[in-house]
Amino acid sequence: MSSVSVPPTFTQPFKPLTIEEVELDEPGKEEVLVKIKAAGLCHSDLSVIDGNRPRPLPMALGHEAAGEIVQVGPDVKDFAVGDHVVFAFLPSCGHCIYCQTGRPAICAPGAKANNDGTLLGGGRRIHKNGEYYYHHLGVSGFSDYAVASVYSLVKIDKDYPFEIAALFGCAVMTGVGAVVNTANTKAGDSVLVVGLGGVGLSAILGAKAVGASKIIGADISKYKRESAAAFGAHETIDSSASDSLETIQTMTNGGVDISVEFAGAMPALDYAFNATKRGGTTVTGALPHPDARLSLNPLTLVGQEKTLKGCYLGSCVPMRDIPAFLNLYKTDRLPVDKLISHRLKLEDINEGFERLASGDAIRQVILFD
Ligand SMILES: [Zn+2]
Ligand SMILES: [Zn+2]
Repeated sequence: MSSVSVPPTFTQPFKPLTIEEVELDEPGKEEVLVKIKAAGLCHSDLSVIDGNRPRPLPMALGHEAAGEIVQVGPDVKDFAVGDHVVFAFLPSCGHCIYCQTGRPAICAPGAKANNDGTLLGGGRRIHKNGEYYYHHLGVSGFSDYAVASVYSLVKIDKDYPFEIAALFGCAVMTGVGAVVNTANTKAGDSVLVVGLGGVGLSAILGAKAVGASKIIGADISKYKRESAAAFGAHETIDSSASDSLETIQTMTNGGVDISVEFAGAMPALDYAFNATKRGGTTVTGALPHPDARLSLNPLTLVGQEKTLKGCYLGSCVPMRDIPAFLNLYKTDRLPVDKLISHRLKLEDINEGFERLASGDAIRQVILFD
């Protein structure tokens, strides 16, 4: 199509994003054109920018967004022009063994498309002067418009503000999902959250929503620890303090039932594992560098019957969980509006990522006209 989009792209790591005017193809089979209304800045975008998460380039970034459908392609059945949608950052095909057994968070064709930088159907729809650009996780939400697979979208009620809805596509889905789905946290459990960015603070809210008895937030940043306290953490811990593990063990009588880690550094995961009590569960939902390796004491894993679980997409079924979590927000049990620390225009995006890198922001949301 000839309409204009301006996805920021970059051509090599450690360079600021550029805002470019590009062409979008018409939506293909089972694809739609979405007018993006709001998009959040996530640490996973930063990991692409700084080269920690290698991706094919040039790529139109952004993977946490909400908007309105303005055009539908062939064979689109469950979506119509005017629908409000949240993007899930992993498409779920609905047909693979993982989707068929209720685990779309590990959809194999979805993961392949994301790794290839394409939409689920294998195509790319963004181009300029004959060169095709890559899609970021099927979303590319830092754009006025995006062509997306319907399998990357969840339809939502129209009464949610877009800036709130966008958060459910990554931060809230991952953080709340890690606590609710992956860890299966029950009322009365003690929960430690290591790494208090937007996802970690969402996990704090999730732990509160399910009735955790003691919620502890750990981070090396004072600003983030103060944020965690404001989000409902009962205790906050400076994880760089030499006696902080002992402090957690003392305050929880031997360790937490559940620890969830979103820092992305191996010492942080080790810390979360060691703070978990005998028989407890450690969940990691961070995305460390692909070369990172974990060293842990397997005797502890066995002798103390601990469980260590990976968590992608909050182990969510987006079609089920995004509306359910949104309902928790609507009924004042998941006050995710607190996550928004800054509202930006697209042209301020590099400033926003610098702020995120420096740790002085929780969730920054770009608002589009
Ligand atoms: Zn994210
Ligand atoms: Zn699948």
